[in-house]
Amino acid sequence: MAKGVLLIVCGPSGVGKTSLCDALLERQERLTLSVSYTTRPRRGEEVDGVSYHFVGRDHFEKMRQERAFAEWAEVHGNYYGTPTAVIEAAWERGQDLLFDIDYQGARQLKERYPDATAVLVAPPDLKTLEARLRGRGTDSDEVIEGRLAAARHELEQYPLFDFVVENGEFEEAAQVLTAIYVASRHARHLKMNWVEGLIDEGR
Ligand code: 5GP
Repeated sequence: MAKGVLLIVCGPSGVGKTSLCDALLERQERLTLSVSYTTRPRRGEEVDGVSYHFVGRDHFEKMRQERAFAEWAEVHGNYYGTPTAVIEAAWERGQDLLFDIDYQGARQLKERYPDATAVLVAPPDLKTLEARLRGRGTDSDEVIEGRLAAARHELEQYPLFDFVVENGEFEEAAQVLTAIYVASRHARHLKMNWVEGLIDEGR
């Protein structure tokens, strides 16, 4: 059983989920980011151990064989995984965890920890998503078409999720995500020991 909030945040590329996650992490000090392992090469400003632990395929394979991952998936040709140890360490420190992972990982974590809160971030409409992807100015038409097709596939996974947050106006979406996290802190399974204590007190 989960001993703290496990907040999973998923959404298609370009939807703005990383900015939403950053805003939530800034506002809620009990919440920390689960740092994944990945075989993807490090990008410009990324720091090893902060955004990801960057490892080679051999290292990742070894961890997989040792069953070190609570979930793992292949995304755009690279491996990504969440070590079980990260979750246990956070609980020991009394912290809640935020997972910025894809829907395959969300499915595995929900199977393993059914009390986890899973949130899908969706664009107000696909035209807006396309405009945001084009606005980055980094991808060719072909890559953008691929990302839009992947977005539709990701949105099809909505039955997996407990909540769907529309990211039209950023501040509004950040507030909704914060509300979901705060409510999750009050889930029955996290309050059980406390309520049982109250009952015992009354005996
Ligand atoms: P990026 O390479 O752009 O940082 O991430 C690519 C995708 O992989 C994003 O959707 C991100 O949420 C997802 N991702 C990052 N870490 C993990 C992880 O540990 N597990 C899974 N399943 N997906 C991850």
